[in-house]
Amino acid sequence: MKNEGKKETGRSEELNGKEVGEKNSKESSFGVDRRSVYKCVQCGTCRSVCPVFDVVGWESANTRGRMLIIKSLLEGRPPSEDVLSSLASCTTCGICAAKCPAGANPPEVVEAARAQLVKCGVTTEAQEKLKAAVMTSGNSFGETRSRLHWLSDSERAKLPEKSDYVYFVGCFDSYRYPEFAKKTFEVLQRFGVTLLPDEQCCASPLLRTGFLEDAEKIMEHNLEQIRKVGAHTVITGCAGCYTTLKNNYPEELRVISLPEFLAEHLEELNLKHIDLTVTYHDPCHLGRHNKVYDAPRKVIQAICTLKEMKNIKENSRCCGGGGGVRIGYPDISLELARNRLEDVPEGVDYIVTSCPLCVRNLRDAGGDIEIIDIVELVAMALE
Ligand code: SF4
Ligand code: SF4
Repeated sequence: MKNEGKKETGRSEELNGKEVGEKNSKESSFGVDRRSVYKCVQCGTCRSVCPVFDVVGWESANTRGRMLIIKSLLEGRPPSEDVLSSLASCTTCGICAAKCPAGANPPEVVEAARAQLVKCGVTTEAQEKLKAAVMTSGNSFGETRSRLHWLSDSERAKLPEKSDYVYFVGCFDSYRYPEFAKKTFEVLQRFGVTLLPDEQCCASPLLRTGFLEDAEKIMEHNLEQIRKVGAHTVITGCAGCYTTLKNNYPEELRVISLPEFLAEHLEELNLKHIDLTVTYHDPCHLGRHNKVYDAPRKVIQAICTLKEMKNIKENSRCCGGGGGVRIGYPDISLELARNRLEDVPEGVDYIVTSCPLCVRNLRDAGGDIEIIDIVELVAMALE
């Protein structure tokens, strides 16, 4: 869910069960907002919506189970590896928070608990691998190529050094979908948008898996880059980068998602109508977490016919890719994606989404209908 102000990005304290009785303290000794944990009244409403529980069926892998485990950690249970599979298998999709009658925000609590486990040295191998990749190469894939490899030398040389607007590409589009990056930048260049000279991972993988101190270093690097360019607005086509830049960075940034930017500039883009019927998958971190529901629909409807999926907007089901689950629990992640594909209506030509991680996970799940990023649809309408 979107935060009231910025999230805490670190400085959690040592585990210490002795402080459990301090009801007035907002921050518990476990580095988790005590009130947010005790908000959970164990009603179980979230059991019926947690997509991970739907697939694995363990009590410890549903939202209520996770909240109970975190509560036990607050009350002195030693942090150990047996809690990892419960906490590390949450995609942070946020549907539990949207449905919770008590107003609890389990994904925020899970993220805070993961950070505390990291602090106590309790991590999974997948988490460590991800952190090492980001910290040594500046991207979540451990790629050593230049982040701007998708531009020619002459294109790079022509990039404006200063601009009010900067396109934050993200690891996924830089290294896995450079064609999305290229198409996005082709559109954005019409509006004088430039790129950061040395962009690094937005820090989302580190923040979602609990490596807060490392995340702070990367965020500071990117902030310095943004200052260098002099940009007042950051545009990104990745839902994970979007929510991170907007809600987790230590400095207030004006962040716009690509669908919002496109929706604002429909007239200038002069898109042609195409005889297609598509459906739209709401990425959790764009939709539920930030309420960006209308902009992508506006863009799609300017181009072709939109036929909605079975569960949309706040009720949209997770693709399974987020929260480190794709890397840590690939089988669970794919099963979630397969379940999401069941929501696709009959008679559509494409499944459109606006997050490269959703594209990747839904594509990996198979199915007969091609999954495309919204920028690909826009590119077709510009031809
Ligand atoms: S998180 Fe909310 S919905 Fe889930 S068990 Fe707790 S109170 Fe109920
Ligand atoms: S955020 Fe999603 S995956 Fe995590 S506990 Fe809530 S419903 Fe389950």
